[in-house]
Amino acid sequence: MLWMLASLFFLGCALREIRNSIRAAPGYAVPIPVTPLYLVLMLGLATLFAWPPLHTWYFQRFLSAKATELADEHRAYVHCNTLFDTMMDREMLAAGHASPVTGKMVLQKPWCGVLMDYLSHPQRASDQELWSLGMFTHESMHVRGEMNEAKTECQAVQRNYRAAKLLGVPDATARRNALDYYLNGYQERGRIGGMQSAYYSRDCAPGQALDEHLPDSTWSDP
Ligand SMILES: [Zn+2]
Repeated sequence: MLWMLASLFFLGCALREIRNSIRAAPGYAVPIPVTPLYLVLMLGLATLFAWPPLHTWYFQRFLSAKATELADEHRAYVHCNTLFDTMMDREMLAAGHASPVTGKMVLQKPWCGVLMDYLSHPQRASDQELWSLGMFTHESMHVRGEMNEAKTECQAVQRNYRAAKLLGVPDATARRNALDYYLNGYQERGRIGGMQSAYYSRDCAPGQALDEHLPDSTWSDP
């Protein structure tokens, strides 16, 4: 919001400069010619400040469309929380949350940024970046209708390969990333125990009770 206000301020300065070159400003007898450097500077600053919110807005729309696809056409509305949004969020301690009723899906600060980083270099994804992919798929599964955390996470684990591909990651990298998360990040949850164990199930494995036998499952044979 502050970025947009700053952008509008500089845009206003540029427009005033143009207006004053066409029509004499109050107190002036004749119009004043435009100062090109000033005009370029104001337009440049307006663009610079508009970029972050526009980029986030575009990314949210992109994620919303992909989450809807993952959620079998249950409409998802993704919102990337700013630091302020996160502090005001009743579920601020959760990295993300989503409602199957409203389709609203929130990714807390800084997880949208981490997911953007992942998508910019998926072939060298860090553990944290793989986690952001898993979280995006996990919240999409809530929008799809599942609220039991262990089942939700297992549905996500099986769809991370599909999710990565939907987000534009090349096929082989998407499969490797999704498997890496299943074999490392996911198993780690079971080992850590405590709160993390609520997201883990021994039955989340090929051929076990929670296997959905998806044709493009993370763990199906290529
Ligand atoms: Zn959850």
